[in-house]
Amino acid sequence: MTDASWKTPQRLDLNHPELKKMQFEKLKKQLIRVYEQSPYYRDKFDRAGVNPHEFTSLEQYKDYPLFDKYEERESQAESMKQFQHPLGMHLTCDIREVNRMSASSGTTGTPSFQGHTAGDREVIARNFARLAEMCGLKPGDKVMMAGVMSMWVAGIPTVDALLSFGANVIPIGGLVGTAKVAEMMQLTRPHHMVCTPSFARQLLKKARTELDIDLSQLGLQSLVVYGEPGGSVPEIVKELSEGFGGAEIFDMSGGTGCLNPIFSQCREHDGMHFISPDSAYIELYDRNTNTVLPWEDGAEGEFVYTGLDRECGPLIRFMDGDKMRVKMTPCQCGLPGMRFDILGRVDDMLLVKGVNVFPTAVRDLVMSFEDEVTGNIRIVKDSESPVIEPPMQVKVECKGTFSESNQQDLKARLEDKIQRQLRFRAEITLFNEGELHMEYGATGKVKLLETRN
Ligand SMILES: [Zn+2]
Repeated sequence: MTDASWKTPQRLDLNHPELKKMQFEKLKKQLIRVYEQSPYYRDKFDRAGVNPHEFTSLEQYKDYPLFDKYEERESQAESMKQFQHPLGMHLTCDIREVNRMSASSGTTGTPSFQGHTAGDREVIARNFARLAEMCGLKPGDKVMMAGVMSMWVAGIPTVDALLSFGANVIPIGGLVGTAKVAEMMQLTRPHHMVCTPSFARQLLKKARTELDIDLSQLGLQSLVVYGEPGGSVPEIVKELSEGFGGAEIFDMSGGTGCLNPIFSQCREHDGMHFISPDSAYIELYDRNTNTVLPWEDGAEGEFVYTGLDRECGPLIRFMDGDKMRVKMTPCQCGLPGMRFDILGRVDDMLLVKGVNVFPTAVRDLVMSFEDEVTGNIRIVKDSESPVIEPPMQVKVECKGTFSESNQQDLKARLEDKIQRQLRFRAEITLFNEGELHMEYGATGKVKLLETRN
């Protein structure tokens, strides 16, 4: 399924003239298509004063209107009202060509829906085959899918892509619980497993504390994780790798509306590679100045996505809300092009003394005490507002049971390190192992924030 030439500079280097030319041509075609086929986009483009028939260079793209999840929800509510489907007024294919519907969790409640045509599913399969190649998966390998197997974009669609790739899929799904997954791992001996990092951590803990199953002895070669930043946090990677007997941990990620997956780590694990510039056009965007930033090493911004291949309801200039830091230096693996680290979700961002703080930054710092803490943390807010008055209230779970004096000592060291590195005051409340109940969203993502009632 994978195409041999996808790893060339002409296909991956975002500043390469050949890639730019190909992206321009595909983008123009897509813009004309949505303009001609969707009254919604036509109206939107007309209001912004842009006409795809006059699109002559990528530089003009910054004048095209952005799209965000609020607009997406409105569009979907409207199509429900008018046409009794939730795929939005920005649908650009015949509704009977839709071959599968997916939903993404939506941190604020209402899910957003995506449809895939048969052609869209083929592109997903092609992108997945690239990811599989990066992670060392081969057709015929046993792959246990232990993510939440639902209509979530990374659920059943991942199983579909694994099947197309030719893997021997073990579609257990995470909803059966960690005990069942551990048992089935023992009985089926998968070469690879796919799930969220927090599910993998729960699985290890369950097996260690309650089951007579040593997950380090089952021969797992790799664990492909997604949906949360854990797969790029060194302490979590180390914990997972050791727990699964030296398995290699690969972080992968989607890219809303661009026929996921389009990002994957390589064996160097130095950021995630953008593996599909032929099916996704990405801009690096600065929300504060409303400008598109050049692709330069170390630049930080949000990715704005445009699906170049998508047939069903392509999102044009979609703001996904993840803040990224990009790497443009050549990767040790030899692949050219852009890599990046996810800094956090703009929606989850907290404001402490006027400074932006991602909850994951607090979690990462706590994880630097990995011998003493489990990594389960929760930041307690007084209201829905992202503004936090120091001291920030943080619940932290210890490993095992701590004596009173040891607890005092650890609490002081954690508070001191947060003050020194993150530059605000925190008040830590420690819990013994098993006492801090972690909550997971519908898609298995761990919740790091709670609001005090
Ligand atoms: Zn690499």
